Order: sequence, then C-alpha cells, then structure tokens
Amino acid sequence: MSSQTKRDYYDVLSLAKSAAPDEVKSAYRKAALKWHPDRNPDEKDVAEVRFREATEAYSVLSDPQKRAAYDRYGHAGVSGVGGDAGFNRTIFDEFQDIFGDFFGFEDVFGRTGGGRSRNRVQRGADLRYDMRLSFEEAAAGVTTKIRLPRQELCHACNGTGAKPGTGPTTCEACGGRGQLHYQQGFFSITRTCPNCQGAGQTVRDKCLECRGRGRVEQTRTIDVRIPPGVDSQTRIRVPNEGEPGINGAPPGDLYIVLDVKDHPFFERRGADLYCTVPISVAQAALGAELTVPGISGEEKVPISEGTQTGSIVRLKGKGLPDPHGGGKGDLYVNVRVVTPTKLTREQRRLMQQLSQTLEIENRPADRNSTFFEKVKDIFG
Ligand SMILES: [Zn+2]
Ligand SMILES: [Zn+2]
Repeated sequence: MSSQTKRDYYDVLSLAKSAAPDEVKSAYRKAALKWHPDRNPDEKDVAEVRFREATEAYSVLSDPQKRAAYDRYGHAGVSGVGGDAGFNRTIFDEFQDIFGDFFGFEDVFGRTGGGRSRNRVQRGADLRYDMRLSFEEAAAGVTTKIRLPRQELCHACNGTGAKPGTGPTTCEACGGRGQLHYQQGFFSITRTCPNCQGAGQTVRDKCLECRGRGRVEQTRTIDVRIPPGVDSQTRIRVPNEGEPGINGAPPGDLYIVLDVKDHPFFERRGADLYCTVPISVAQAALGAELTVPGISGEEKVPISEGTQTGSIVRLKGKGLPDPHGGGKGDLYVNVRVVTPTKLTREQRRLMQQLSQTLEIENRPADRNSTFFEKVKDIFG
C-alpha cells in the first residue's frame, strides 16, 4: 500500500484542522486551478500528481462522514471503501459546480470520469440476445425465461483476479495510473499501459477460480416479459442484465432483439392486420355473416347484400395491440367472390334459371367515362 507516503490532506490543501466547509471548497478550487495539467504544460506530470492529490484530499474533507473518519484514523480511516480515498463519481459531478466549464476534467480523469486510473470504473458491456417468436406469441406477448451465458464477477476473488488472501499490486510500469504519457514536440500522447492493460494493477498470485481474470462465464436464467404487439426488429431492453461493470460501475443492459415469423394468412402493417377471405357468389349477392379465425379467437365478418369482389370490411380494434400501450389496430378483410368451377346437376339447373332472370349489359365499360376521363380531368 502506498498510504505511508501519503501527505496529510489538510497539508495538501494548506488548511487548518478546524477549516469550515466553505474554506475547504475554496482551498480546493485554488489548488485545482493552480495544478490543472493544462495550465502547467511545462511540468505536466508534477502538476497532475498535485492535482489528483488535491482532488483526493477534497473528496474526503468535503464529506462530513469521511472527514470525521479521517480525523480519527488518518488515511486508514478512509481507505477501502470505494477506492483508497473514497474518490468517486460524486466529486466528479461536483466539478461542474465548482468550476463550471472552465476546462475539461474528463481529460484528467480519463473518459470514464471515475477518478484515478487505478480505480478506473467502467460500465459493463451490453449484451444482445436474438429471440424468435411465432406470430401468435408476438401478438399476445410472452413471459418466458431465457438462458444467457455471460461474464459474472468471480466470487472467490471478488473480481480482483488475485488469489484470496492476496491483493493486486500497483503496476510498476505506470505507477498505478494505467496510462503512459509521451511528450513529442507539441503533441502529448497518452496510451494505455501495456503491462496492466490500463488497470493500474497487476496480480502476482492469480485466483485459481478465474485464472486471474476476475470474472467467470456463467449461464444465467433471466425472466423476460415481451409485451403484446411486438414485431420483428423490436428491441426489448432489460436493464442491468448485461455484463458486470469494472470497479463497482453499473452493469450493462441486455437487449432482446425479436424476429417474428410470418403468419400463413395474416399480414401486418404496424398494428393493423390484413387477410383475404373467399365468399360464394350467393353470399356476395344475398349478404352473410362469416365466422373467420382471428388472431385471438373467432371473429364475425358481416357481408352486406350485393358485395363486390375486392371489397374491404374493416373490423375495428380487431388488429394487434400497440406494444407501447396505445389502442389496438384494425383487422381488414379483403373479400374475394369465388366463381364456382364445379356444379352439381341441381346447381347448374338453378344457375340457368337464375341466369334468365338476371340482367346485365355485357358491353365494355365506356372508356371516356372511366379511366381516360379521369386522366383528362387531371391533366386537361
Ligand atoms: Zn477469481
Ligand atoms: Zn500499468
């Protein structure tokens, strides 16, 4: 541990032990402005160390609980919880309050904003799970369990990768910063430390359970609720069921991406359903009430007297539910009048009889009154 060499937090900020919260804040502001690496291009490395030191001191002294613990037990009183100085995200958020947008703190603390690189926090990776559903399942919604192989924190070493009883040690190559800086003319290049892969720590005695990786692959069973009315390409987000975060950061999310199978006779457009139903010449002429299989049970389809082929009957609210909680779509029935191709002797006799009484003019429809007339109206 490096705590023996740590400077006293009050000394770091040049404060008396009795300093009031306002004094702590203004002392930190002064120190941070003085030591911000961007303002000290000539001695960037020293500045960075001083800056972090001041920030660490402030994160403890600005917090009444941590300050009390520090006053009683020194550095030991504030180590161990959330990193060796309790240097957490809260203080990072507070920067905006203290400095506004004066300069970029993300650069100093790394993109994750989690403080010292050695305590780098990083949200876990999101996972994708592809799920195939039948048309009916998508319409009705499903509650199911999925088995998901994913990385879990190793419980034997609590994610450190070190053999239980031992701990990771500060990386010698980067001094625990996780990054190496190079100055080349005007350019300052920072790259991830190759020795520790940016973790700032290395493990000498590896945990046997996870072989030093800090995590193990496990298959989890997760309850999933798919709302009714989903379609192909719908993504369901299951929060916090992705891979675990690093150093106490939140886990990623799980995204379930759906693929819905086609239905043999229903076609969907959004929440509306379309299907085609054949009717007989007699039903078309006389009218009828059909019973057809809908997506959730049987539906009655009224056919009015004198229905033409190609007519569409709309059944309101008999489509699919909106997965976002809106109303229901409609069911559109496309009616097709089917001419009989095989008649019994009796049917033929009746048809002939009917034919003598039905009058229809078998002349071609007047061109001018239909298609061309309309075109002339538009362009004429
Ligand atoms: Zn382990
Ligand atoms: Zn390193």
